[in-house]
Amino acid sequence: MRNDERDRVRGALLGLAVGDALGAPVEFCRRGSFPLVTEMGAVPAARLPAGAWTDDTAMALCLAQSLLLRPDFDGHDLLTRFCRWRDFGDNTSTGRCIGIGQNTLRALSRFSRTGAVTADATRRADGNGALMRVAPVACRHWRSTTKAVAMAASQSRTTHASELSAAACELAVDVMGALIAGHRWDDVWPRPVAAAWPGEIARLGQGSWRSLTVDAVSSSGFVVHTLEAALWAVGTTSCFEDAVVRAVNLGDDADTVGAVAGQLAGARYGASAIPARWLSMLVKRELVEDCADALAAACDAVDAVYADADDVDRPTRP
Ligand code: MG
Ligand code: MG
Repeated sequence: MRNDERDRVRGALLGLAVGDALGAPVEFCRRGSFPLVTEMGAVPAARLPAGAWTDDTAMALCLAQSLLLRPDFDGHDLLTRFCRWRDFGDNTSTGRCIGIGQNTLRALSRFSRTGAVTADATRRADGNGALMRVAPVACRHWRSTTKAVAMAASQSRTTHASELSAAACELAVDVMGALIAGHRWDDVWPRPVAAAWPGEIARLGQGSWRSLTVDAVSSSGFVVHTLEAALWAVGTTSCFEDAVVRAVNLGDDADTVGAVAGQLAGARYGASAIPARWLSMLVKRELVEDCADALAAACDAVDAVYADADDVDRPTRP
């Protein structure tokens, strides 16, 4: 793997954690009701120090570690790691599970009770809880669009019975994969739209976020709103810092919009473009970096062994 590719793999995962930590203090705050956020701050109510991240990053680390052991995806392994996060605080910034969503709680209870590795299909769940953690799929499988996109949906279905969520994860991983491979943001759009995508996601893939004014951008926990807000924040700015600042200052589900924008901006600009003052504040930065580097190393190991396998179908930068 080239150094610039490794930098973008690192950027996607570190960017997720940075966006999560930056947005956490204003999660659920109404837009315009707080001073502009440009620095890491504490969340006293959740006993989080400045630079601490929440469920978004914790679940991404669980997914990263699962993919390192089971690169072809294993829902049972992933859900077991999510349960260890819930029960024992594995992969947390402070030792405690923070911010777990109702839907994820339900899915984990069901898994503990029945062993089911997909969420209950009778309860539609269009929240952003699967999208917020999806970057490791792109970090590990960016060389194969087919594999990465299928896995993005599979990991979504472990906790979210929602075709909107699955399609949103597919689009996000497809875009991140192209960026990690070295394609320029402007050349990435429009994306090839999968026939199964609901119209809301197909339109985002076509670039509908481009024409939005800030007042038309919602930053709610609805997966379509979160992805739209993150694409808008990254697509209407020209550096990592501006993208993530724009995302978290939308308020509402600020940590998650920040985490999704951070993944995309990190894949676009690389870890080397993340402001050093944010990285130096990030709690357990080494844990996040080590996971990203291990995912990059795993790609390299596969490349060496299966140079001509169907593991590789994405053209790299011309
Ligand atoms: Mg969170
Ligand atoms: Mg959130």
